[in-house]
Amino acid sequence: MPAHILGITRENLESFVVLGSGVKSAGHRAARLFEGVYGRTGQPAWPPVFPVEVHQASLERLRKSFDFQLPLRVTRFENSAMDGSSKLVMSLADGLEIETVLIPERGRLTQCLSTQVGCAQGCRFCQTGRMGLIRSLSTAEIVGQVVAAEQWRREQGGALAEYSRISNLVFMGMGEPLDNLDNVLEAISIFTDLKGLSFSHNKITVSSVGLLPQLNRFLSESNACLALSLHSPFDAERSKVMPVNKAHPIGQVIQTLREFALRYKRPYMIQYTLLNNVNDSREHAEALAALLRGLDVKINLIPLNEHEGAAFRRPELARIWSFRDVLKSEGHVVTVRLSKGRDIAAACGQLIKNTKPNAKVESEA
Ligand code: SF4
Repeated sequence: MPAHILGITRENLESFVVLGSGVKSAGHRAARLFEGVYGRTGQPAWPPVFPVEVHQASLERLRKSFDFQLPLRVTRFENSAMDGSSKLVMSLADGLEIETVLIPERGRLTQCLSTQVGCAQGCRFCQTGRMGLIRSLSTAEIVGQVVAAEQWRREQGGALAEYSRISNLVFMGMGEPLDNLDNVLEAISIFTDLKGLSFSHNKITVSSVGLLPQLNRFLSESNACLALSLHSPFDAERSKVMPVNKAHPIGQVIQTLREFALRYKRPYMIQYTLLNNVNDSREHAEALAALLRGLDVKINLIPLNEHEGAAFRRPELARIWSFRDVLKSEGHVVTVRLSKGRDIAAACGQLIKNTKPNAKVESEA
């Protein structure tokens, strides 16, 4: 099966052009072809329309060598009446499904991307974790989510079509991005390429539970923002909620962040899901403040999005504000994310999909 055109970085495309033509200065030809795939405005159209000035022999070879079918298609969607978010169900070539969410907010249009079908990490408050890992997405399937979502919102019209483009990307959908790091790094390279989708690195956030070898590599190789899912400052308790903590204790993860912060002055986002009477006490807030002291972080508190069968509850507002106030009094920057898309089960930890390959998918779009 040929490789997919959406899975190739500009660097690899340049090698492909050199191999075919023998020209050493293939950079210009590759740039024109790459620009043709993604368009010049950050709003890719599919199938791509190549400008007439591209080198025609290279284009012909490209068309013969790569798969140009979109690797996923939008088969269903739901729009939130609460906040204008849209959850898109996308079907992959093998019939598996993933979800991605478009979130309009204060002039920005953010897309939440999935990186895997299911997830191996098994965080106890998360619906996706209950699926287990089915498989990781290819680079083309990650990049394709943006291409397909851009196309979908233009065809739908309405409020989301009024945005000039998707402006921010967060890797916070289904899956643990650092468990699929090669493909995530390639996708980020395509997203941030000025001839690709030209996102700035600071408009891309990658969320992780903190897998240590991969975290080191991610922080070394990418300038995208990191959002660490922390959820408890206490090792024993964090291990119960997030099994990953047994192999990668939170103290070691924070130490890694400190080392990279010293070297590169990087700020981080910390995500903390508040679970009623589990991790939302004053003692937790004080320990969290101490754990993060001296790091340049923004702490994002996420009151649990309850779902059917959830073992945990969302705290009352008064407990949420008290927790926030302790962190603030210690000098931390804190926001409370009353998640978008809760009425369409599109909020954090609520994404769960069909797990059967080649399942029949009905189109509602
Ligand atoms: S919270 Fe993230 S890492 Fe944990 S199970 Fe869910 S998708 Fe996986």
